[in-house]
Amino acid sequence: MLNLILFGPPGAGKGTQAQFLVERYSIPQISTGDMLRSAVKAGSDLGIRAKLIMDTGGLVSDEIVLALVRERLSLPDCSAGFVLDGFPRTLPQADGLMSVLQAIDKSIDHVISLDVDNAEIVRRLSGRRTCSSCGKGYHVLYDPPKDSKVCDICGSLLVQRDDDSESTVKNRLAVYEQQTSPLKEYYESIGLLRHISGQGTISDIQAQISKSIGISCDHS
Ligand code: AMP
Repeated sequence: MLNLILFGPPGAGKGTQAQFLVERYSIPQISTGDMLRSAVKAGSDLGIRAKLIMDTGGLVSDEIVLALVRERLSLPDCSAGFVLDGFPRTLPQADGLMSVLQAIDKSIDHVISLDVDNAEIVRRLSGRRTCSSCGKGYHVLYDPPKDSKVCDICGSLLVQRDDDSESTVKNRLAVYEQQTSPLKEYYESIGLLRHISGQGTISDIQAQISKSIGISCDHS
């Protein structure tokens, strides 16, 4: 059983590192950002309301996000564990998560904080591109496609996430500082927080995460 929170600012690499944990431990990644983007894509009422907030870099209400997570955590694929990515982001969300978990007799084992400085975050997020068809991710500096406008795999147009524009990124960072970073103290005070530098190679960071949660790491 591995119940983990990947914590850190937008662009810290939570999604990338979650992927390695998902593959390695066969546990689901629960990304509230992905869930909200799905709702936006589906055009549901929730999606329409969420998009207005997401496009400015603000936070969707605690009630909405907690309801999504409560439902998701009750699904059977979470029985061997889960990786929370981008949740909780506020103190009420952290308290709400605690109650949700208590009700289903679970708890958090580790909170991994991926630490990355602000200049690097702005560089990472503003250079991020995604294939509009297959979803493959690129970065204009760190992982560029062969042709700057189209996907190497399927040839479809590459797009920038609406909230990865430079002005929205700055707002997302300000929101992170004000509302989310206080959670570090919250998790530190209950002995769950581990700090990892998010500024190495992907495999170095994987190794550090494995070490900090006390599991052996091989790169096979
Ligand atoms: P992310 O993909 O995690 O960076 O999330 C993208 C956007 O979705 C955020 O900027 C918020 O507007 C919204 N969002 C994602 N997760 C949460 C959350 N836990 N609480 C509130 N809003 C969220």
